[in-house]
Amino acid sequence: MPYRAWFQCINEQCGATYPLNSIIYRCTACGSLLEVRHDMQTLAHRGAKAWMKLFEDRYKSTQWPYGSGVWGKKEWILPRISEENIVSLYEGGTNLFWAERFGRIIGLDNLWIKLCGNSHSGSFKDLGMTVLVSQVKQMISEGAPIQAVACASTGDTSAALAVYCAAAGIQSIVLLPKGKISIAQLVQPIANGALVLSLDTDFDGCMRVVQEITKDETIYLANSMNSLRIEGQKTVGIEIVQQFDWEVPDVIIIPGGNLGNVSALGSGLLMMRDLGLITKLPRIVVAQAERANPLYRSYLRNFETFEPMEAQKTLASAIQIGNPVSVQKAIRTLKQFNGIVMDATEQELADAAALGDTTGMFNCPHTGVALAALIKLINAGRIDRSEHVVVISTAHGLKFTDFKVQYHEGALGFPCRHANKPIDLPPTVEAVKDALRHALQKRRKENV
Ligand SMILES: *Cc1c(COP(=O)(O)O)cnc(C)c1O
Ligand SMILES: [Zn+2]
Repeated sequence: MPYRAWFQCINEQCGATYPLNSIIYRCTACGSLLEVRHDMQTLAHRGAKAWMKLFEDRYKSTQWPYGSGVWGKKEWILPRISEENIVSLYEGGTNLFWAERFGRIIGLDNLWIKLCGNSHSGSFKDLGMTVLVSQVKQMISEGAPIQAVACASTGDTSAALAVYCAAAGIQSIVLLPKGKISIAQLVQPIANGALVLSLDTDFDGCMRVVQEITKDETIYLANSMNSLRIEGQKTVGIEIVQQFDWEVPDVIIIPGGNLGNVSALGSGLLMMRDLGLITKLPRIVVAQAERANPLYRSYLRNFETFEPMEAQKTLASAIQIGNPVSVQKAIRTLKQFNGIVMDATEQELADAAALGDTTGMFNCPHTGVALAALIKLINAGRIDRSEHVVVISTAHGLKFTDFKVQYHEGALGFPCRHANKPIDLPPTVEAVKDALRHALQKRRKENV
């Protein structure tokens, strides 16, 4: 089947279209963001059951590249790309587990965690980056004059860009806010051969610069205003539903910063609905850090206005963004999905992440924001005990060891309720026995 996809302006009054191999990030007619649109009529020639079967047959198989969680849905992503240009590290296919004990503690029977941080570069950004870098490889093979691919990043985008470019043999350039990302995130692009530019500003400042330097067509822009990334990220919602044997959960919670991912989540789910794979839609909740919560503020005003803000320093560094590029798309998605926006303070996000860890998770601070938002929604009666809830865990906790170490040392400037300090002892049996007696008794008391 000759499936087709193209870029289309999100402004409905405009609706200009562009081919996917044009070097373009905004509509040249009106300046709005673009999105990838698919020829849904042709996709609908294959019935819903047949799509499900195809996706199930490919899922996690070794049939390259279709075992990838993203490329297993190739016809819905980039139908025309040739296989030899696909740059895949077998992204997606991440585990989805029942958080039984954590759910019980916070008052929820059916809570599931989608562990997207268990991925090649340690965050869910791999899902979108495989698509963007593959399309770049395709364009280079067609003779496009692209010399390098660049992004501004709060850490995870640059790690994903660098690793996919390294796999493809394409030069990457990353612009990072100096001193505002974790060591693990900084060392990833360094190790993968990116040109790492550390700028004395915040993410929004890096974003302004990268938009200028990518006006030169030989440097291709990899930020999520480039909607190719959204096409890959949208598989997260499809994959969650597939993992539940095509049943749709009641609520999906996702942490949000630049806000491309919430619209990606919505876009995958809408595609499933429009092609008949599902009949209902979940509610979508976006969770923001209180120190970078422009969407939450707009939500409180029914989205009538949106004011960018200067983001304050937050432990949830990947979502420390005050002027989100994809805000219009995010608001559109939230309106379609009966959406909720919730925010969390530093203490709330850190305690929620740590509480999760005591039940067998190993949370990054952004997942902490999502868990804190969930706890607040349950306590406010806005999510019911019996609802089927999925939290998207966006990065691996090992990328954020500083955050965890400081929490357990009680060094974050607020009381850390679940801090667990190592006990220093002389190396004698008596000292150890004595310490265990006291410590175990104390734990027993805390647990009753
Ligand atoms: C990018 C990112 C987010 C937020 O995604 P946006 O599209 O910027 O809203 C959340 N968590 C982590 C770990 C991220 O890297
Ligand atoms: Zn336009």
